[in-house]
Amino acid sequence: MNQLEKMVLAHGEALSSEVLKVDSFLNQQVNLEFMKEAGQLFYDYFKDKPINKIITIESSGIAPALMTSYALDVPLVIAKKKQGINMSGESYQSEVYSFTKQTSYHLTVSKEFLSSNDHVLIIDDFLANGQAAMGAIDVCQQAGATIEGIGIVIEKSFQKGREMLDQKGFDVHSLVRVESLANHQIVLKGE
Ligand code: 5GP
Repeated sequence: MNQLEKMVLAHGEALSSEVLKVDSFLNQQVNLEFMKEAGQLFYDYFKDKPINKIITIESSGIAPALMTSYALDVPLVIAKKKQGINMSGESYQSEVYSFTKQTSYHLTVSKEFLSSNDHVLIIDDFLANGQAAMGAIDVCQQAGATIEGIGIVIEKSFQKGREMLDQKGFDVHSLVRVESLANHQIVLKGE
């Protein structure tokens, strides 16, 4: 069992059979040891791929993605959920339905920061039904970038996302795979 799995078991909370709360180390308070380990484990898995850029989705993907960009020594691009007034110029956009917020948003990346020369690693905090990952994939594909892989900190393997990304042929690597949250119990895959 890796350190991240231990942390999820010790400090995660199964709010329901579908939602895992990890506010104390990932979504609100950020645990540096957890993030360092996430960066190292993604580095170990993806280091031999020709990755020149990491893409993540604000806000909870940023911490693990930054540690990974540091380990791989490549820049990090943050896909925005809201287009601010400081974002000028043309952008790639994709509509995403949010599992936690139950609403849709437009994922936006400025064309300045993504092109057909890029070999991208997508990093996110959670994989549930795969909508956020599909949005990130969509903006990369609009740019003509090559997707080298998808790194997920916590995958809820009982939801549809993992199977869908596997079927599409993506190289998905999840650091923690949750098999079930039934009865407020966190059960990891392979436990
Ligand atoms: P998906 O698009 O794969 O359905 O959901 C992924 C996004 O929803 C993640 O970026 C994450 O922010 C959020 N999310 C999905 N499930 C959970 C969960 O159980 N707990 C938390 N904290 N966030 C989740």
